[in-house]
Amino acid sequence: MSRATVRVEVPGDSLFGPENMPYGIFAPPGGEFRVGVRLGEFVLDLAVLLDDPAFAQPDLNSFLAQGPTSWRVVRERLRELADSPLPAEAVHAFDSIRTALPVRIGDYVDFYASLDHATNLGRLFRPDAEPLLPNWRHLPVGYHGRAGTVVVSGTPVVRPCGQRRTDSGAPEFGPSRRLDIEAELGFVVGTASRQGEPVSVDDFGDHVFGVALVNDWSARDIQAWEYQPLGPFLGKSFATSLSAWITPLAALARARVPLPPQEPEPLPYLLGTDDHGFDIDLAVTWNGETVSRPPYARMYWSPAQMLAHLTANGASIRPGDLYASGTISGPERDQRGSFIELSWGGIEPVTVGDAPHTFLTDGDEVTITATAPGTAGRPIGLGAVGGTILAAHEPGPQEFRSAG
Ligand code: MN
Repeated sequence: MSRATVRVEVPGDSLFGPENMPYGIFAPPGGEFRVGVRLGEFVLDLAVLLDDPAFAQPDLNSFLAQGPTSWRVVRERLRELADSPLPAEAVHAFDSIRTALPVRIGDYVDFYASLDHATNLGRLFRPDAEPLLPNWRHLPVGYHGRAGTVVVSGTPVVRPCGQRRTDSGAPEFGPSRRLDIEAELGFVVGTASRQGEPVSVDDFGDHVFGVALVNDWSARDIQAWEYQPLGPFLGKSFATSLSAWITPLAALARARVPLPPQEPEPLPYLLGTDDHGFDIDLAVTWNGETVSRPPYARMYWSPAQMLAHLTANGASIRPGDLYASGTISGPERDQRGSFIELSWGGIEPVTVGDAPHTFLTDGDEVTITATAPGTAGRPIGLGAVGGTILAAHEPGPQEFRSAG
């Protein structure tokens, strides 16, 4: 008895053709979470198609740990399968599935790699000083973020409460009034490194599996009061959104671009023989209106330099670790990747739906999408990252009273 087969048809203008095939974790209707790849308007079930228990897992970590040879072999096999009749139970309509966080994230680091963003934020946060601090052109500035609050695209984000400074100079506690986004690109680590052994710039491709869009939600009022001298803390740790779909580096082979000039020349441990950036164009949509188009190609520090720096002291990486680029901003106003820049600290509102907007209002929805040159001579899409703001869980006075 022959099983029912289907052939997946992908329109020529699809951003998710066989040259893309990002990986994610999905559940078909009534089914368990497992590994899939997106192909056109469908998701292929790798637990059904490939004979490897790693694909029946509810995260990509086991597959990522297999390393670059396995990533390449699986990708080649999937390219063949995409052209073949497939068992019907391995093919699901994209709009019928649920997604989950694609990786179990052990460690999360966020960088600050855009010269335009760092300059803008320096002007806004320290108006009377040089916008760039003296270290900025010598190392990719970063901080360790909170891995446990990274959420998959589509997860609502509750407005955080925290301390902020008032006009009198004294702090008060309450819901953030300057809730913002940061449009970023995330890098997903595949293979581990050993503690004590730095990863060189040239070894980037042996360790990093792929990229995904990130929204690093940021409460600017909490951040501005708390960040000195140890850096971001509660103003950013309440939620970070990650796309459900990880685009393998192999799909971005034609999107590599030279880095902008780095002056002064970085120290030797930050130099490689084939270092590069990526020509990825983002779009930030606020309540359905595109308000910004940040260009990743202008980022000052490369993803390989970020990885080399974060391991330069011997810190190790593990499968599923995530590091993000920092806000991606270009030189033009409509290329700014955060609303604090777009509205210049809240004094130059952006028109969204005929109304002036500065920071996020409850109910607002933000979605970030991106495209890049693909290997088939047409653009490919990155998986979107989106989220909606819910009202703060503001504690009532009784919640502060101690029992008895
Ligand atoms: Mn950030």
